[in-house]
Amino acid sequence: MFTDTHAHLSHKDFDADRGEVLARASSQGVFKIIEIACAPSEWAPGEALCLQAAGRLRCAFGIHPEYVKDIQPGAAEELENYLQKPCAVAVGEIGLDYWWEPGRRAEQLALLEAQLPLCAKYSKPAVFHARSGREPGLDAYAELLSLLKQKWTYSPGKRFRGVLHCFSGRWEDAKAGMDLGLALGVNGTFTYKKNGDLRDIIMRAGADNIVLETDCPYLPPQSARGKRNDPSFIPEIAAMTASHLGLGTNHLADKTTANAFALFGAF
Ligand SMILES: [Zn+2]
Repeated sequence: MFTDTHAHLSHKDFDADRGEVLARASSQGVFKIIEIACAPSEWAPGEALCLQAAGRLRCAFGIHPEYVKDIQPGAAEELENYLQKPCAVAVGEIGLDYWWEPGRRAEQLALLEAQLPLCAKYSKPAVFHARSGREPGLDAYAELLSLLKQKWTYSPGKRFRGVLHCFSGRWEDAKAGMDLGLALGVNGTFTYKKNGDLRDIIMRAGADNIVLETDCPYLPPQSARGKRNDPSFIPEIAAMTASHLGLGTNHLADKTTANAFALFGAF
């Protein structure tokens, strides 16, 4: 059984065929999905989606750094309400994005620091987003990891405390993340021709430290570039990852689902 640990199925790109997308995912063996509701406008739709497909979906609630400029008064309190819903399994995605919002560094750091204590308060792991800037000196991974090392107190006594979703850093970032109890999220970017370095890092990290994700509707695998991504692409991502790790695809499916359950809890 496959698990997609990072999907944005509430996105408008799925409005016309959300039910078919979920059915196709099942037909490909992708039975478990973590929906990421990372803007205040996504929280209610995220919960609604989980209620419709209760056996298959759980939700992360948080505020993504790209939305730092749109936060309204009361959002923090509302977020805490959603983190107490039965479908809530993580705080996220939260983090630093210096690609799209390089000018709002201080605001992003403040937003991240405000959300980190929610992990301990509600006993939830975190889904982290880090994207470095186009120019050197805007190193989102180094800043995120050093902040977590200093200020993130959440200690669940479990194998994982969170995940570096869509991992795109260097080996030292992967190592620092694993030392902090973070899994590495592997998605369609693993299959892109130019990403040899990423494949080397994931091979070095090994199957014990990864979870699979799509980040749909974004980042489809190589075979579908330019098209909409959806959870049914997980087996394709898994097959290429498994072949690099020297494992069978079914073995990697079970392994990464076990990792996902160790991270978010079984469901
Ligand atoms: Zn995402």
